[in-house]
Amino acid sequence: MHARTLALLSALSLSFIPAAHAAEPTKEVAAHVAGKTQLNWYGHAAFKLVTPNGKVLLIDPWLQNPSNKNGADDVAKLEKADLILITHGHFDHVGNAVEIAKKTGAKLVATFDLGNALVGAGYPKDQFGFDTGGNFGGELTLLDGEVKVAFIPAVHGSTVAAGDNDVRQGGSPGGFLITIKNGPAIFHTGDTDLFSDMALVAKFHKVDVMLACIGDHFTMGPARAAAAVALVKPSLVVPMHFGTFPVLTGTVDAFTKELKKVGGATKLKELKIDEPIEL
Ligand SMILES: [Zn+2]
Repeated sequence: MHARTLALLSALSLSFIPAAHAAEPTKEVAAHVAGKTQLNWYGHAAFKLVTPNGKVLLIDPWLQNPSNKNGADDVAKLEKADLILITHGHFDHVGNAVEIAKKTGAKLVATFDLGNALVGAGYPKDQFGFDTGGNFGGELTLLDGEVKVAFIPAVHGSTVAAGDNDVRQGGSPGGFLITIKNGPAIFHTGDTDLFSDMALVAKFHKVDVMLACIGDHFTMGPARAAAAVALVKPSLVVPMHFGTFPVLTGTVDAFTKELKKVGGATKLKELKIDEPIEL
C-alpha cells in the first residue's frame, strides 16, 4: 500500500474514535479459566489468546482500532503478554505492538524480514531473534512446548511505515497456524485473497478455529472467504477485518449466506469485542 494511502487511513481511523469514549470505563474482561484456551477479539484482526497454562499471545494487536471504543483502556490494562504475532507490516496489524512489547517484554513472532523491519521501526531489539523469527514452511515450538506456530503464506503486501517518509520492506505477508497443547489449533489468515493452497493448511493439522478476513476491498470478501473455509474445513470460523473502515464492506450476514452456499460442517461464530470465549 502506498505511504500516502496509509497516512489517509490512519487519519480516517483517528477521526472515527469519538473523544468521549476515552473516559468510558471498560467492563471487566472475564477471568481466564485455568486449563482452557481463551480467545478475545479486540476488533479488526486483533486477538488475544490465553493458553491453558496462562500464557498470553497477541495477534496483530491494533487494540485502538475504530471498532473498539475501549481500545486505549485495553492497551493500558494489558499487563501481561508473552508473544506478539504479526502477520504483515501494515499499520492496522502492527497497531500497538511496540508500546505493548515495551511494557510486557513480549517476544515478537514474525518472519525474519518483517521482524527486522519492525525492530527498525521501534520494536525492542532484544525481543526478536532466532527463537521467534521464522519463515513459511517452518513451525516454531515456543513457551516450553505449549505452543507451536507455523508460518502460512498469504496473498497481500507487507510494507512497514516507520515514519512519514520511511516505508520499509516487510518481506512476504502471511498468517499463522497456532497449535496449543491441550487446546485448539487456530488459523489466523492475516490479510489475504483466497488461494487454493489454503487446503494445505489442514493437510498437516486439523484446524479447529479459523479467524478469516471477510471485509473485501483489501482482502477476501464474504464469497471468497466462504470458499477459503471450504478448503480449510475448520470446526469454527470467526469473521474478522470487516466494518473497521467504510470500504471494508463485507458483513457477517453476507458471509453467513455464502457459507450456506458452499455447505460443509463449519459453524460460524461472531465474536463481540472484549467478550472472550473459552475454546
Ligand atoms: Zn494489510
